[in-house]
Amino acid sequence: MARKPQRIVEAALIEGIGPVTAQDLVAMPEDTWGLLRDRITDRRQGNDGLLAKCLACDSHVYIKTARRRGVSLPLFAHYSGSDPRCPWHHGRNATPDDVRAAQYGGRQESDFHRLMCEQVAALVALDPRYVRHTMAEYLPPTETAHGRFPDVYVEWEGFGTFAVEFQMSGTFQTEISARCKHYEREGVPLLWILFGIDTKVQVQQSFLDVIRRHRGNAFVLDPPAVSASKKQHTLVLSCYLRNGDGFDPPQLVRFDELIIPRSKLPYHEDRIVAPLLADIEQRRRPWFNSLAKWDHEGPLPGLDRPQSLLMAAAFSIVAAANGKERNYASAHPNIRAMLNTYLHAGTFGGYTDLLTRLIANTTMAGLLNARVGEHLRRYRSDVQADERSQEWLMLRHLLPEALDPVVREELRYLDALPAWASPK
Ligand SMILES: [Zn+2]
Repeated sequence: MARKPQRIVEAALIEGIGPVTAQDLVAMPEDTWGLLRDRITDRRQGNDGLLAKCLACDSHVYIKTARRRGVSLPLFAHYSGSDPRCPWHHGRNATPDDVRAAQYGGRQESDFHRLMCEQVAALVALDPRYVRHTMAEYLPPTETAHGRFPDVYVEWEGFGTFAVEFQMSGTFQTEISARCKHYEREGVPLLWILFGIDTKVQVQQSFLDVIRRHRGNAFVLDPPAVSASKKQHTLVLSCYLRNGDGFDPPQLVRFDELIIPRSKLPYHEDRIVAPLLADIEQRRRPWFNSLAKWDHEGPLPGLDRPQSLLMAAAFSIVAAANGKERNYASAHPNIRAMLNTYLHAGTFGGYTDLLTRLIANTTMAGLLNARVGEHLRRYRSDVQADERSQEWLMLRHLLPEALDPVVREELRYLDALPAWASPK
């Protein structure tokens, strides 16, 4: 059957980040666009999050996923009820209620669900700290007050309360968001247990959304976890850690030993922030090595002379912001003298916007209120390397904590923006 060609939303404006094109979105790593997707949904649900608008019609958009050759790809889509005259409009979206009605048409899933809740309740009661638990009725089609009735709600003496939710096939992004944000506000740890996940095949998007919120950890209550729980008299889960596109073999983890971050979504091992920071570090390493050996004469490999000095100055700013002041760009005793000299000489005239942005997004931001700031304004050329220039793209790739608004936002949200890139 031939399908009608669909128009897609070519670009959106994400508050605090700026314009993001459909191509930018597809080029992002999955954890990055996934986090934007989560945060846009959070905001739509009336919580703290990100607002995204269609660049053509200004209607609110979200990030939906489409499968292409077995891979989930992100694309912007209008929420239902948006302006049909938008040139990027592509018809009505299914509402959560429509799909939920189809999804829970059969009763079978709810029977499994009840049994799983009873299983968790029995296991948490084995813990010597157990005080009480409550178990919600399972009535998703009529449940309108999201998040008020967790599947299982537990109180352990000395540990406090925590909530357990089961993620069945295809739970909606909006429901996941509403529940996560509810418990975050309440300060109650929330554990999502996945039901029916098969890590040997491509994992469904709704599971990946929950796994990402748990920092790349997929928690399952399988027979080994149940028997370990009985043996250890506490809740033990099988934890699959994301590794690239797949998962490592499961490990048994005690619930009370998980790390609980500000989001209150616990994890065993962070598989999102740590690999991201390691990847960035690896991009930078060769440049730090070349700069350490550079004598400030001539150019660096692959760059012209002004670009080389810019690179050296940028890395010097980062080193200073990191509390390890080092001047890679000249023989001056400090980076202030180095910057002032090159600005005064006109060497950085075309890079003042770039340098200003870099400095502003680090702990060196104070320089902008001092002589360096004055020089940046006074010796600014009309022709500037802008965000699409080779220099800006190169430095954004190497110093994304300071220069890539999407990465900054992601790290800030995960409480992992390095101190050097957090101006006071
Ligand atoms: Zn539009």
